Amino acid sequence: MRVSKKAASFTESVIRDMTRLAIKHNAINLAQGFPDFAAPEEIKEAAKRAIDADINQYAITWGAKPFRDAIAEKFARTYGVAVDPETQLCVTCGSTEAMMSAALAVIDPGDEVVVFEPFYENYGPDAILSGATPRFVTLHEPDWHFDVAELAAAFNERTRAIIINSPNNPTGKVFTRAELEQIAALCQKWGVVAITDEIYEFMTYEGTVHIPLITIPGMEDRTILINAMSKTYSVTGWRVGWCISSPELTSGIRKVHDFLTVGAAAPLQEAGVVALNLPDAYYTALGDQYLERRDLMLNILEGAGFKTYKPYGAYYIMTDCSSLGYDDDVTAARSLTETIGVASVPGSSFYKEPELGRTKLRFSFCKKLDTLRAAGERLSRLQK
Ligand code: GLN
Repeated sequence: MRVSKKAASFTESVIRDMTRLAIKHNAINLAQGFPDFAAPEEIKEAAKRAIDADINQYAITWGAKPFRDAIAEKFARTYGVAVDPETQLCVTCGSTEAMMSAALAVIDPGDEVVVFEPFYENYGPDAILSGATPRFVTLHEPDWHFDVAELAAAFNERTRAIIINSPNNPTGKVFTRAELEQIAALCQKWGVVAITDEIYEFMTYEGTVHIPLITIPGMEDRTILINAMSKTYSVTGWRVGWCISSPELTSGIRKVHDFLTVGAAAPLQEAGVVALNLPDAYYTALGDQYLERRDLMLNILEGAGFKTYKPYGAYYIMTDCSSLGYDDDVTAARSLTETIGVASVPGSSFYKEPELGRTKLRFSFCKKLDTLRAAGERLSRLQK
């Protein structure tokens, strides 16, 4: 039997595929972005306590009350902006479900969605499944800036949403206030909703500051902010995320979410209360540790002959591997995994036109320093 035209129109995730290849060849997995180190002890303890306390049945579909309160309080502490946990929050199964629920809640078939390119691969299927046509706007190398005229040209009366991922995967770009204001002006001009994937919120480097678009005046009622516990608390397998948006948008998202998944894991939401209440020192330490990993990985990659694009946020490094002599990015990624023992993600999976990513590979550095050093040793064989 055939599958739907929708399901047939996109491929399996290249990122997840590279993880399977890494496991098969016992390679160090610098492909998929998940930490290989432990989550904070107090969060793990809280999850165990919640199960022992029999918090094992459905939470309220849009999120357990204590967890929504903790998210709202944390947002107010960090950005000085109030969020009503009763009407402006929807807890989801990771940011992946949050993105999909947000897209399905605001997009109708035939609408257009603006997406910056290179982009995290999920946004392609997100657009297709919600019936939208994506309009790609280039982030130009080497600093990944966009051209305002090119961005403006992507908007029209069919535009319904724009997806912004800052700090950005895969480039490490952190959108500046000026850039966000340009985006905000276009959203307001065309009546567009901004869906902002802010999952790398606390990974910014060298004084770079993350600004949620929803805090820019005029954007509070037209932004859906997406985040999750996954990256900030090193629990990507827990699948606990959330959306923050106006009451009107939130009510649409909550309905979609309810019928997609009912709700996120109840005991893990309890642990989320402990996580969201960690002191500021936790986030400072997180940023410092990632900075050290970034710098180590930049050195390793440059030493191994890659051209690197220095990231100012998130935990990936885009590279150019033309000088290594492979035919294309997919061959390079597979060969590095199979023969050198280090997995990465082929650059083409971040572009609509695969040709644009043919010389690129993305490496994750959300790993123990020892893991990165071991990868460095393997990669140094490239020079021999
Ligand atoms: N964001 C991660 C990455 O880009 C992957 C997340 C996932 O696989 N769900 O590698």
